[in-house]
Amino acid sequence: METKKKKDIRALTKDQLRDFFVAQGDKAFRGNQVYEWLWQKAAHSFEAMTNISKETRNMLEAHFVINHIKVDQMQRSKDGTIKNAVRLHDGLVVESVLIPTSTRSTACVSSQVGCSLDCRFCATARLKRMRNLNPDEIYDQVVAIDNESRLYFDRPLSNIVFMGMGEPLMNYNNVLEAIDKITSPEGLGMSPKRITVSTSGVPKLIKKMADDQVRFKLAVSLHSAIDEVRTSIMPFNATFTLADLREALEYWYAKTKSRITYEYVVWKGINDARHDVDALVRFCAFAPSKVNLIEYNPIDDGAFQQAHDSAIAMYVDTLERNGIVVTVRRSRGKDIDAACGQLANKG
Ligand code: SAH
Repeated sequence: METKKKKDIRALTKDQLRDFFVAQGDKAFRGNQVYEWLWQKAAHSFEAMTNISKETRNMLEAHFVINHIKVDQMQRSKDGTIKNAVRLHDGLVVESVLIPTSTRSTACVSSQVGCSLDCRFCATARLKRMRNLNPDEIYDQVVAIDNESRLYFDRPLSNIVFMGMGEPLMNYNNVLEAIDKITSPEGLGMSPKRITVSTSGVPKLIKKMADDQVRFKLAVSLHSAIDEVRTSIMPFNATFTLADLREALEYWYAKTKSRITYEYVVWKGINDARHDVDALVRFCAFAPSKVNLIEYNPIDDGAFQQAHDSAIAMYVDTLERNGIVVTVRRSRGKDIDAACGQLANKG
């Protein structure tokens, strides 16, 4: 009796799949066909692989499973934002979001179940990190959102941001492998320029990305350029200090010549003073930078509060005068807990 657990076929590379077919006495080419079904066509069953013989499909069935995600619940915000609760093959749940504008559809995807970091203002941080997502689980979130974009907005997905649950750099290999598949013509064929990986800033992995010559964009969740302040709201900053982060970003810029985006929330009494913005200007000075001022999405008892408009205006004015591109981002999907920092599997 078969007691061994069947292997997830999407853990195989294309070459491994080709070798498998050769070992079965079939042609290596069969591996290419199946690979195309698994990735480009995102098939969820061997049954669906209609140009593969019934016999071969049964043989695959006997050896492998196709672990795929299932959108358990879809919520739509009154502003058009869609949030998916995504069930993984082992029953765990993550969330991903489709953010439509008049011209674009952006997918915000998760990279971990829960998060290993402890940002005080983020709902996901309250969940324990359970595990990293596999490349196919990241890929499937993108496919699901692309399908929804075509269905509800009549256009394919245009952009991807790794700003859902988890710290993407703490799941480095799987995130990069997923992006490889998403950008490959054998996958979804998306341009890496339309993909942004957002990190709270793990210095040695930022350097590794530069060494690996990645072509996607980098966003750093900064929130303060003063160590004491940043450590009080993002406690891991005690380990990965601003000096280390800055050095890693200088390395990144020297190697990639790619502009750095900073995400930044201004909170009342925390980082809304003149010296906070001055520190930010000094921090960004070494490379072309863009600062996204994100609206705070309350997650709790009010320990954190969005700063006054006058503080936001001071930030915008000071940054602009110093030649730093700045945008003020309004939140989307707040009514369904789909906005930045609100993903916490409430459903
Ligand atoms: N771990 C990654 C990506 C996930 S968070 C990172 O830290 O970058 C995506 C963005 O939402 C980050 O910039 C994060 O700091 C921000 N964020 C977290 N909680 C928030 C909240 N309650 N309101 C607004 N933005 C928040």
